[in-house]
Amino acid sequence: MTLRLTNTAKTYPDGTRALLPTGLTVDTGEVVSLLGPSGCGKTTLLRIIAGLETPDAGGEIWFDEDNVTALPVERRNVGMVFQSYALFPNMSVRANIGYGLKMQRLPKPEIDARVHEVLDMCQLGDFSHRDIAALSGGQRQRVALARAIAPRPRVLLLDEPLSALDAALRETLRDELAILLRKFEITAIFVTHDQDEAMAIADRVAVMSQGRVAQSGTPEELYRNP
Ligand code: ADP
Ligand code: ADP
Repeated sequence: MTLRLTNTAKTYPDGTRALLPTGLTVDTGEVVSLLGPSGCGKTTLLRIIAGLETPDAGGEIWFDEDNVTALPVERRNVGMVFQSYALFPNMSVRANIGYGLKMQRLPKPEIDARVHEVLDMCQLGDFSHRDIAALSGGQRQRVALARAIAPRPRVLLLDEPLSALDAALRETLRDELAILLRKFEITAIFVTHDQDEAMAIADRVAVMSQGRVAQSGTPEELYRNP
């Protein structure tokens, strides 16, 4: 699925205006890192793509040939992973992953099959019956990822998903995530303020500055032309 944004800005009720990178595109199966300092509008952009915020008049979000600007969050089929896991702590790994699928009213055998599939993909098989409260930070982030990809979203939005983890674990999960996104050809946007992380994970890095994409290229191009 190809994602396109046009003219997007967001004015919050208090008057704060977040300018968003006009003309950002993400191609099918591509992993794009959005790199930029805190406050530059990265989270706002993801929330607009997901349908959790409405852009200002004139802004449009396109998924392939569909203008999804007016579609509510539950009809966009977007997956999201955040720094804070937002999991249900007193439910099992399996129940957390299946929750969204139940909301979609998929038949039980289909839910079981999907849960099994993503447990494998995210190396969580051994933990499927544990409660979230009994897991480490890294394991929780794997569950959050599994939950986000279980509905086979059109695009996966990752907002600083590794920031709460310690450095070593962060690198391990980053590498696992890079492999998984490629293997399953997941179209994804990875938001971070960490340059090394952006470079390590993405096919293409878009550098945000003052509300626009100031530079965009493959990690190799950006290393050559910093
Ligand atoms: P980033 O994710 O890059 O740190 P954000 O998208 O969170 O940036 O924020 C972009 C700008 O919008 C900032 O100036 C921020 O303070 C402002 N902002 C974000 N959310 C709100 C809100 N709910 N109300 C008012 N201003 C907001
Ligand atoms: P906030 O407190 O930031 O306003 P929301 O009520 O919008 O949070 O959502 C709670 C959490 O669940 C957030 O992390 C949000 O992005 C996420 N979320 C909301 N709707 C969905 C959805 N349909 N699929 C996945 N995550 C969602």
